[in-house]
Order: sequence, then structure tokens, then C-alpha cells
Amino acid sequence: MIRYENIINGCETSPVDGQYLETENPWTASVWAEIPRSTPEDIDIAVEAADKAFTDSAWADIAPSQRAAMLRRLGELVEQNAEALGEAETRDNGKTYTEMLKQMKNTAEWYRYYSGLCDKIEGQVIPVDAAGHLNYTVREPLGVIAMIIPWNSPVRLLAWKLAPALAAGNTCVIKPSEHASTSVLEFARLVRKAGIPDGVVNVVCGLGSEIGPQLTDHPKVAKVAFTGGVGSGTAVYVAAAKRMRPATLELGGKSPNIVFADAPIQAAVNGVAAGIFASGGQSCVAGSRLLVADEIHDEFVALLVEEAAKIRMGDPMLPQTHVGPVANRPQFEQIIRMIEIAHEDGATLACGGKPWVSPGGALFVQPTIFTDVDIDMRLAQQEVFGPVLAVTRFSDEAEAVKLANSTRFGLSAGIWTSDVGRAHRMAQKVKSGSVWVNTYRMTSQTSPFGGYDLSGVGREGGMAMLESYLHTKSIWVNMTGNYPSAFSDLKE
Ligand code: NAD
Repeated sequence: MIRYENIINGCETSPVDGQYLETENPWTASVWAEIPRSTPEDIDIAVEAADKAFTDSAWADIAPSQRAAMLRRLGELVEQNAEALGEAETRDNGKTYTEMLKQMKNTAEWYRYYSGLCDKIEGQVIPVDAAGHLNYTVREPLGVIAMIIPWNSPVRLLAWKLAPALAAGNTCVIKPSEHASTSVLEFARLVRKAGIPDGVVNVVCGLGSEIGPQLTDHPKVAKVAFTGGVGSGTAVYVAAAKRMRPATLELGGKSPNIVFADAPIQAAVNGVAAGIFASGGQSCVAGSRLLVADEIHDEFVALLVEEAAKIRMGDPMLPQTHVGPVANRPQFEQIIRMIEIAHEDGATLACGGKPWVSPGGALFVQPTIFTDVDIDMRLAQQEVFGPVLAVTRFSDEAEAVKLANSTRFGLSAGIWTSDVGRAHRMAQKVKSGSVWVNTYRMTSQTSPFGGYDLSGVGREGGMAMLESYLHTKSIWVNMTGNYPSAFSDLKE
């Protein structure tokens, strides 16, 4: 059993109350680590440390080239420690080690990319209609950023926030998920090794309900960057609004894969199956709805059922395992409940639909496909976050667009067709932050990612994300040496 501590001001710090939460490995169904069950007092200490690091200019005033070098070094350290970080993540959330390892290697790229932007944060000289005046802008970091992340890909999703925030000169307090904190704590140790000053990156673990509000409502927090579900995201957004501070929200999805009759069929089958069943569906961009053309519906579903039958569930550390266990019991229960709901609402089960408990007590759900899913059914509207696909048929392009846009989510969509005109028409009409044509789940540190409507607010990735961690200050200089009286010419 390993006991982890919070990381505050560069030091391993026990929670003030001395309480810890058990962290269970979903594959062995046994406790393997303890993480702090912090209290609001721990949050206060961490925010003070981050604020001190910010106001003492330990970070923001470091030469941009030096800040860049440290971020680059951090990326290298993530890559060098990918195995340990990936293993911690697999132990926490049950996703396969193969996937987690790949994610760590990609995470390193985020630090490299944003390191390259540290010395490209420029202001402008702006032409103004005011003779003798100079107007220019400077960019300033915001201050302490609260970063709240979920359990499904902690280190990677943290990088989406942390890399641009640090490049811009901010400091932060990170609250990882109570279900998966250890990889983030392991990562935070690397921050110090990269030479980043103490207090710039702080991590406080605990229950969202107990310490989340203290963090989002803290007077010294300048911005909240959140990834998670719609329920907690709403609470975070309300707290930020009350303090009139910006928030970036990356929330859930009910993403459609839209397959036309002229699609490259085998590629589409592979893409749709991976879209929903990879990671056991525990992905914000899970392609949890399939919209398929009438003409190919039966053939396509039959091929998908065949593909689903190939999925090997088991020990997530083994390379031959395709899908590990469901991350935790509440998540497992939610998936099972959604399967019951699909039956209650009248959907037709095409395959799967059953739980499976391994001899060691790990919780799995079979890859599950429901057909005849009307758009009003709960399975078509609510995020499952599990391996459950809802299939709905369409007769033409207009109906496909209507169905695609008939949920309140809008995170991502896949379009499968060999008609290039249709591909572009659909890409423009579908309301979602990312659209993938004849592919799925593509992301890059250089490209914006985010959602419409319930899927979130703001974008992560690319140059735009750096902007969202900066103030723009407009500075006016009167170069004439005079400031005429506004009152001297006033007549009685
Ligand atoms: P969750 O919303 O339950 O928890 C996310 C984080 O918020 C955790 O750290 C939790 O402790 C914290 N939290 C909970 N209540 C809080 C409060 N009142 N104030 C502040 N913090 C609070 O989500 P989860 O179950 O960990 O993750 C799954 C969800 O995340 C899914 O809905 C998924 O779609 C979403 N997600 C979105 C993206 C994206 O980029 N759009 C990526 C991954 C996951």
C-alpha cells in the first residue's frame, strides 16, 4: 500500500485533518494506494502558495526562453517516465496500459508545443484616432488557475490546461478526481525536477463535493479550467460566474457517427466500433450514437456485431487486452442502469447488454448495441460513459443532420461517406466542436478542441488556448506633454 500526499509549494504535504481516501485498482478490486482526503483548509494553503508564487513573480517574470526550456524539460520527463505514469493511471482507472502509455507519449508533445509559444506572446501597437497618442497592448498572465480534472485520462487532460497556462506565466492549484489522483501526483514530482519553481504547480486531492466549491469560489483564483460531467461542470460555472471570473468547461457528449450508404464500409465499421468500444466507452468523445442509412442498416449492424465479438476484455496491463474493467462501481452501476432504461424505452438489443465480473472481482460490461433507438429515447439523449451504442436509421441527408443535431450535446461527430461534397456539407451543418470525416477521435495539441451547448464552454489546444490564459491590457501614452483643461472654454 502506497500513501500519497498533496503537493504544495513543491513539498509532499499531509492533509491538515490527517484523513485519507482509499484508491482501488479496478482490475484486482483491491486497495493499492491512499490519497489525501483534503479539506477546504488544504485548498486555502495551496491557493496561498500558488498566489505567492504568482505575485512574487517567481514564474511570470522568468525570461520566456527559460520558461520554455523548463516546459520542454517537463515534456521530456513525462516521456522518460511514461511507463510509471501509465501504470499508475491503469491501476487507478482500469484503462489499458497500452492506451495509457500512448497517451503519456502524446502528453509530452503538449508541453513541447506550448514551450515553443512562451516567447511568442506579443502585444500590438494599435493605430488610434488620437493625435500625439500612442496605444499599445501587453499580454499578462491571469494569476492562479484552478484546474479540475476527471478520472478517465488524468495526466493527458491536465496537460491540455497546464501546458498553456504555464506557458502564459500563470500558477495553479490542481484538483484531480478522487477516483484517479495518483498519476497526477507522480507527474507533479516531475514538475520540480524540470526546474519549475515551488508553488507554481500545486495538487490537492479529495472529494469534489468537499473541496471543489472552496477552490472554485476562492477569492484568489483568477480562472477555473474544468473537465468532467455536466452536473459538476454546472456547479463550477455558477461558482465562477458569481465571482465574475472566466471558466473553460470541457464536458460530456452524445456524439454521432453518421454512416452513409456510399461509405467505405469496412473503415466505417472499424471507426464506429473503436469510437464506442475503445476504452470501454469511457471517453468524452465516445461515438455513442450510430446514425446509419436505411439501405445499409442491417448489413452494417451485422458487421458491427461481428467486430464487437472480437473484443477481449481482461487484465488492462496485458498487451493482448482490448478493454479493461469499468473504472469504478458507481460508473458500472450507471452503465447497467442505462441498459435497463434502453430496454424499458423499447430499444432492440443486438448484442451484449450483460455485466461480467472477472474471477478477481473486476467489473465489466459487454460491448452492447441497441437498434431501433428513437431520438427521444433516453439512450439517445443521455451520456452513458460506457460501451453502449445507440443505433438510429435515417433516410436522407436532411434527416441525418436533424438527428445528429437533436441532442443538447455537441462535442464531436464522425461522417463516413465517399462523396466529398456531402462530407463538407455535413461537416458544416453538424453542430459539434470536432468533426471527423472518414476517421474518428483525432486530436492534436495544435488544434482546438471543445464543445457546443452542454458539451462545454471554450476550447483547449492551439494558440487560442494560450490566449484564454492571458489578459490583454491596453496602454495609452500621451506624447504631447499637454493635457488641456476640459473646463477652461466653458461659457456661462
Ligand atoms: P465528474 O464531473 O464527476 O468529476 C470531475 C471532477 O470534478 C472531479 O475531480 C471531481 O472531484 C470534481 N468535482 C465534482 N463536483 C465538484 C464541484 N461541485 N466543484 C468542483 N469540482 C467538483 O466527472 P468524472 O466522472 O470524473 O468524469 C466523467 C465525465 O467527464 C464525463 O461526463 C465525460 O464526458 C467528461 N469528460 C469530458 C472531457 C472533455 O474534454 N470534454 C474529457 C474527459 C471527460
